[in-house]
Amino acid sequence: MKGKVYLVGAGPGDYKLMTLKGLECIRKSDVIVYDRLANIDYLKEAKENCEFINVGKASSNHLLPQDDINRLIADKALEGKVVTRLKGGDPYVFGRGGEEAEILREEGIDFEVVPGITSAIGGLCYAGIPITHRDHASSFHVVTGHPRNDGKETKEINWQALANVKGTLVFLMGIANLQHISENLIKEGKDKNTPVAFISWATRSNQRVVTATLENAYEVAVKENIKPPTLIVVGTVVNLREKLNFFEEKPLFGKNIVVTRCRTQSSLLSEKIRDMGGNPIEIPTIKIQKVEDNCELESEINRIKDYTYIVFSSKNAVDIFFDKLNDMNYDARVLCNSKICAVGSETAKAIKAKGIIADIVPKRYVAEGLYEELKDIINENDKILIPRAKNARDFLVNKLSEKSYVKEVITYESVIDADNKNLALQVIDDEEVEYITFASSSTVKNFMTLIGENNIKKLNDKKIISIGPITSKTIEDFGVEIYKEADEATIDSMIDIISNDKKVLMGDITC
Ligand code: SAH
Repeated sequence: MKGKVYLVGAGPGDYKLMTLKGLECIRKSDVIVYDRLANIDYLKEAKENCEFINVGKASSNHLLPQDDINRLIADKALEGKVVTRLKGGDPYVFGRGGEEAEILREEGIDFEVVPGITSAIGGLCYAGIPITHRDHASSFHVVTGHPRNDGKETKEINWQALANVKGTLVFLMGIANLQHISENLIKEGKDKNTPVAFISWATRSNQRVVTATLENAYEVAVKENIKPPTLIVVGTVVNLREKLNFFEEKPLFGKNIVVTRCRTQSSLLSEKIRDMGGNPIEIPTIKIQKVEDNCELESEINRIKDYTYIVFSSKNAVDIFFDKLNDMNYDARVLCNSKICAVGSETAKAIKAKGIIADIVPKRYVAEGLYEELKDIINENDKILIPRAKNARDFLVNKLSEKSYVKEVITYESVIDADNKNLALQVIDDEEVEYITFASSSTVKNFMTLIGENNIKKLNDKKIISIGPITSKTIEDFGVEIYKEADEATIDSMIDIISNDKKVLMGDITC
């Protein structure tokens, strides 16, 4: 059985600049082979047990030689696996994707290519530089600046044509060879005052743009310590940047912000940070551990028709309950004798996803709210099942028990996500990381446990943002100073603090 290979363009780096088709390939793959230019956040979309293979670092410093990469991809497919070869930008723009595809064809392996947004166009766009413009350039030329070892490619480059063509020139992999590039262009007649832009890590939150002229380009690049991956743009379209630069003006551009909520809750905060140009670094401190082989839950489900009410107070509780129900070969119809109660709109939504509209959703999303709704309608004949988390508050069980029979079944527990310990330690030592956000006391406690007592003082070098007074108190109890507390206890209010904070100077440097 032969598998299939998808050569997928991951786009230039901004998480949302990948095609729907590319994402689909990632989601269905057994193996993902990627290198450093592809945004590794895409790997989170992969299915469980997907194998990840990192094959590249810097352009001249591959972890694996190209022949070995070709072999690896072919071998995995020959094992019958679905393989995604994830490449930065577009797979056929200097990515050696063509060679990889040729090998697959020779070996009779089924493959497809999914184009991506090349950095040569998309990267310029995020720097405020349109690659063509009626008043500036009616063609563009994408050139490799990285000669082959045998020098063949440099000879193939027609410097005279490039110097005289008037279109925008974009050099990829050109930094090591910059002096050669600018000298050749000037020698062949290109105006030495032609504007040049260096765009490093284009479309990412750490995008950096430096502008120069062809004449001083090399000098400026050395002075500014410009490193790959960088695009070199030559042409007057560079001047449009002053007017058209939209990305670096986003309120959170250049800001690295740690998000400590559990994965399911963090997505909203991360999404907003990303939309506003920032870089969310997710370090979930809590994970959900369900009770395995839950005999107690099984026996309650077996007599579920006795229950007149079932109370859910979290999405996790809903998912775990219905998974068990299905595992036992039942479906939602067995709940026909029970009224379903949901605390919180997310919980109600999770129930709806199972095909049931909750009968009671209290206006106040807390246990007290549900008690208010139930207290006058339940009596001693009612039986209430509450499948829920360990260590949940006693209030509901105690109060409802005064009126009816209540059965609480523990179905899961929130535990510290120790898998993220190394990432957490890395982040607190990383000078580029400016903010750490905390949206509950429990995430504070778990984060502190994760990094360990001796490292807590390092948090005083970061700007700590707290969602409200209770969370702030917990942070301060650890001896850590709060930078700012949100005015309202909302995610938006936390984001406001960061976007109104003074801007880090990462933007333009003009020489
Ligand atoms: N297939 C890729 C290019 C691979 S060659 C594409 O279509 O974009 C690698 C070179 O591309 C790097 O050395 C750099 O010059 C450029 N590059 C790729 N992504 C980049 C990015 N996000 N920022 C700046 N340069 C990038």
